[in-house]
Amino acid sequence: MFSQIQTYAGIINAIIIRRVEFMSKIRVLVWDENPPHAPKTLYPHSLNGAIAEGLLALGADHLEVKTVNLDDPEQGCSEEALNNTDVLIWWGHARHGEVKDEVAQRVKNRVHAHGMGFISLHSGHYSKTFKAVLNCSGDLKGGWREHEPPEQEQIRVCAPQHPIAQGIDDFTLDGEEMYGAPFDTPPPLTVVFQSYFPLGGEYFPSGMCWTVGKGIDPNFTSGPGKGANQGYGVGRVFYFRPGHETMPTYFDDRVRKVIYNAVLWCGKKS
Ligand code: ZN
Repeated sequence: MFSQIQTYAGIINAIIIRRVEFMSKIRVLVWDENPPHAPKTLYPHSLNGAIAEGLLALGADHLEVKTVNLDDPEQGCSEEALNNTDVLIWWGHARHGEVKDEVAQRVKNRVHAHGMGFISLHSGHYSKTFKAVLNCSGDLKGGWREHEPPEQEQIRVCAPQHPIAQGIDDFTLDGEEMYGAPFDTPPPLTVVFQSYFPLGGEYFPSGMCWTVGKGIDPNFTSGPGKGANQGYGVGRVFYFRPGHETMPTYFDDRVRKVIYNAVLWCGKKS
């Protein structure tokens, strides 16, 4: 009987803790480069507007979502803005070079030392922030292709138990740009999704996550795992490949759900 009461108490406690967790909203900052080459007919509120709209459609009661861009003061990433952000989402393409080095370092520091979540989308693989946060080149060593008509991308769920894959089945985007592996990043914690491009037969690890920063022993080599040895870094990072600016990808419900799930995971709520 006593153990039963203990069990009930445990369940009630878990429910209370879960509610408290969600009482403080996850503060999401959606950044884009204010891309002049993204068609306004397709993205009237820019890429960050479409991404923010998708997040709010799924989690308005537990997400606080703001949009900023490269042309905002301090390029949208002031110390104050980052200090008040739990998860930063980054979409950049043609204007990577305009991002100040100090902004990239500020983002990296926030992720590595303070545990801000970071999600890089599509051509963000070459952003200064992605390269700084993961300390990699972000090169697409298998190339890329922008085909006319736009080609199909088949996305396979590789880690169905992962929080970022919840509610997602394998799916196909009818029009996208191709990226080919190898993709020059550190070894991921998990490959959540892999893409296949039937036009040319290329594969790409299109949804990967890492932990970075404080908590990781850089000299550790091998052991029983579960974070017991190398450890988990304080900052969670996710990269998601789809999102070419001439395609309506960020209006796709499955893509929106992946980004929403990634916000919960990078914000340490799942
Ligand atoms: Zn693209």
